[in-house]
Amino acid sequence: MNYRDELLLRFGSRDGELLVGGTTLSRLAARVGSTPFFAYDHRQLLARVAVVRAALPPDIELSYAVKANPMPAVVAQMAGVVDRFDIASADEMHVALDTGKSPAKVSFAGPGKSDSELASAVAAGVTIELESAGEATRVERTGQALGLRPRVAVRVNPPFAIKGSGMRLGGGPQQFGVDAEAVADLLRWIGDAEMDFVGFHVFAGSQNLDAEILIDAQRQTLALVRELASQAPGPVSYVNIGGGFGIPYFPTDAPLDLASVGQRLAETLGETRQGILADASVVVELGRYLVGECGVYVTRVVDTKQSRGSTFVVVDGGLHHQLAASGNFGQVIRRNYPLAAGTRLDGTDTRRTNVVGCSCTPLDMLGDGVDLPAVEPGDLIVIFQAGAYGLTASPTRFLSHPAAREVVV
Ligand SMILES: *Cc1c(COP(=O)(O)O)cnc(C)c1O
Repeated sequence: MNYRDELLLRFGSRDGELLVGGTTLSRLAARVGSTPFFAYDHRQLLARVAVVRAALPPDIELSYAVKANPMPAVVAQMAGVVDRFDIASADEMHVALDTGKSPAKVSFAGPGKSDSELASAVAAGVTIELESAGEATRVERTGQALGLRPRVAVRVNPPFAIKGSGMRLGGGPQQFGVDAEAVADLLRWIGDAEMDFVGFHVFAGSQNLDAEILIDAQRQTLALVRELASQAPGPVSYVNIGGGFGIPYFPTDAPLDLASVGQRLAETLGETRQGILADASVVVELGRYLVGECGVYVTRVVDTKQSRGSTFVVVDGGLHHQLAASGNFGQVIRRNYPLAAGTRLDGTDTRRTNVVGCSCTPLDMLGDGVDLPAVEPGDLIVIFQAGAYGLTASPTRFLSHPAAREVVV
């Protein structure tokens, strides 16, 4: 079965229309009231978390990286099923804490945390993942000003890179984390500072589909943390080993072998649990893998035209809402995200079609030469794999088009 058919099967269809959360697309569009929009299927979301939990060792804590999809209703759904939240800004922190999650279960990573963000984080009592020695001194000053002891972990830039990642965030020189060889000095400094040290964070890559690479990275990460833990100024209660689990976007992508990752992590963890890290919470943090596949971006056909033998379908959405699908968010070679004519699933007479967005740039291409049945203005085009890094990772003010609504179904 090809990948697009698999997606159609997962969402389901009725009377030639895609179902999202059990509702036909045209009815859902009527409910939302305007196009384009994003819809996130909460049953798929919860099912996905359950699958991940079942595959990972039972003593692993699961953290949701809010930046993948910070819609408050999505984060609220997640709050009930994940152990922790990973945030990357003060606004994400507010969304995370609004769910009722304990600040002790929220960790704040990312370079360039402003003084005001640090003050919010210290006042809230979330764990601040230190990205540099300079940030550590600003955190200490913030704590002194507020009369509070900040809770901190050290984000480590490992000596190894994770090959095969869509995005590399560790190894070599990095804006992320403290170089592993400089961590001992920082730990000594933290020991003398007015702050509470809880542990380590290593996040070295994103969008990885290769189980062997992830297994190897987790093994190296835990070995590195064990070594660093012996220099810690206090007991290590928190070890965040990152995530980076990828999802398939293109026909050539094979889904990640999650079962293997889980099995091998259980073995590695067995060794790690002896001695110094016996009592630490070991955390896997995932964004895209938890939410990416549960969401669709829905946009309406505005115009169809022929140009010198090519068929163009012009829609009311585009790169200003779903930059990634246009190929302009971290892709080297542009490839099509899976898409379908969601109100014409029964259409048999397919033709090679270019689906283009409404922005005045040739970059606004959602489907380059895809096989689609004939569509007309008013039909709905669905772009899959839109649950992560969609709306909030797009230049929404570009051309001042209307905003896209987001709904949970
Ligand atoms: C972005 C980010 C994540 C989430 O990455 P995904 O590829 O979406 O799983 C996790 N941890 C940190 C520190 C991040 O910056």
